[in-house]
Amino acid sequence: MKTIEKMEQTHLQEAQAYVQQAYEAVQKRNPNHVEFQQAVKEVFDSLVPVFAKHPHYMKQAILERLSEPERLISFRVPWVDDEGNIHVNRGFRVQFNSAIGPYKGGLRFHPSVNESIIKFLGFEQIFKNSLTGQPIGGGKGGSDFDPKGKSDSEIMRFCQSFMSELSQHIGPDLDVPAGDIGVGAREVGYMFGQYKKMRGGYEAGVLTGKGLEYGGSLVRKEATGYGVVYFVDEMMKDKGLSLQGSTVVVSGSGNVSIYAIEKVTELGGKVVACSDSGGYVYDSKGINVDTVKRLKEVEQKRMSEYVQEHPHAEYYEGCSNIWSIPCDIALPCATQNEIDEYSANLLISNGVKAVGEGANMPSTLEAIDVFLESNVLFAPAKAANAGGVAVSALEMAQNSQRLSWTFEEVDAKLKAIMKNIYQDSISASEDYGTSGNLVVGANIAGFKKVADAMIAQGLI
Ligand code: NDP
Repeated sequence: MKTIEKMEQTHLQEAQAYVQQAYEAVQKRNPNHVEFQQAVKEVFDSLVPVFAKHPHYMKQAILERLSEPERLISFRVPWVDDEGNIHVNRGFRVQFNSAIGPYKGGLRFHPSVNESIIKFLGFEQIFKNSLTGQPIGGGKGGSDFDPKGKSDSEIMRFCQSFMSELSQHIGPDLDVPAGDIGVGAREVGYMFGQYKKMRGGYEAGVLTGKGLEYGGSLVRKEATGYGVVYFVDEMMKDKGLSLQGSTVVVSGSGNVSIYAIEKVTELGGKVVACSDSGGYVYDSKGINVDTVKRLKEVEQKRMSEYVQEHPHAEYYEGCSNIWSIPCDIALPCATQNEIDEYSANLLISNGVKAVGEGANMPSTLEAIDVFLESNVLFAPAKAANAGGVAVSALEMAQNSQRLSWTFEEVDAKLKAIMKNIYQDSISASEDYGTSGNLVVGANIAGFKKVADAMIAQGLI
């Protein structure tokens, strides 16, 4: 017995040393890429029990291979505004890992976009896509272009210029981009048109998130928000809790937030607050999702205008204080690192029971530690927001078959996928001695499939 324990201890130490050395190499090779380093650290640390149990992964230098993108493309995007002035932005596409399928991941248009942000998102996407059970690899892209305040014609010219270059690097069996922050159905439409023109053929499966008239899938628009709520519902039910009757705070008011608010409301919860980058609204009667949809999806207005139609609601400048509102469930659905250690502690002292990450990496590493240590049910982004890319994969499947499934069919598949992701993540956490820790469980479940496929395909 003593010998077995000693052997296990030795394997654990070797695994810890390997992970530490691989992480230091990532830091050295990617100096100043803080977001990328943060994402890598979270994944690497959670894989220690896998390496202790299966040391062959270490011999395969699997972390070194996984953390280096297969390809990173950076390109110039020149465009002309309505006054005839010339602007130049930078475009990116990271093709991170194609072990289990074509690269798949969204495009983000936001002034904060840089190589580090794109690499952190692309890296996370590898594991998320693997978790969905769909045959899709990991990628991500975008530009530091700011769509705010731009006319429709300016958006179109930018998208066309962006796609003129990107079209040389993507394809339905190679790399399939979609939307993300700043990229919705309008932008996908302009980019699809330009791709078609550049390639001279109708390759419907080259982009997902398309309009329903030309190959889009029902439920894609709703998928990430609905998926987060399906996941949280499953996680709560598993622990004997219920979403019904819960008070919920959702940050953001974009694509993910709107459909998370809609689904929570449908399932009997009450969302009392949401936000945009200017500030947040508190509505004790429950956020009216139709108003938010109209303000944000149709009129492109600010959340501050919500109170004009709902005078009993209150608007506060600045968005981080949204986490001071007492709630049972917190759904951060805006952007990375929006919940820090302070906000996490505030949520706990106000009695939060569950946190579901709709955005990518919305909690800092310190905030995650706070949640895990206080036994709050914590649904990490990689698992909880995978519904969007899962339905994107279903869109690709429909495009290949030249068929369209009904809303009910796609929604049922989405619900089943979210349930599976929860089950796979919780089982992996139990198998590796970290019962109930979904951060570790999701990373391990996502990792193993990709790592095994990479090893099976040889050193390429
Ligand atoms: P949108 O552009 O539709 O919405 C983003 C929302 O977040 C907007 O309301 C925006 O406000 C708000 N926001 C941005 N920065 C801040 C900030 N610093 N503080 C508060 N609010 C902020 O993006 P999505 O909804 O598509 O994406 C949101 C998150 O979800 C991102 O992390 C994205 O990567 C992730 N995600 C999205 C998926 C999808 O299918 N769309 C899939 C998986 C993950 P404003 O209007 O003022 O800019």
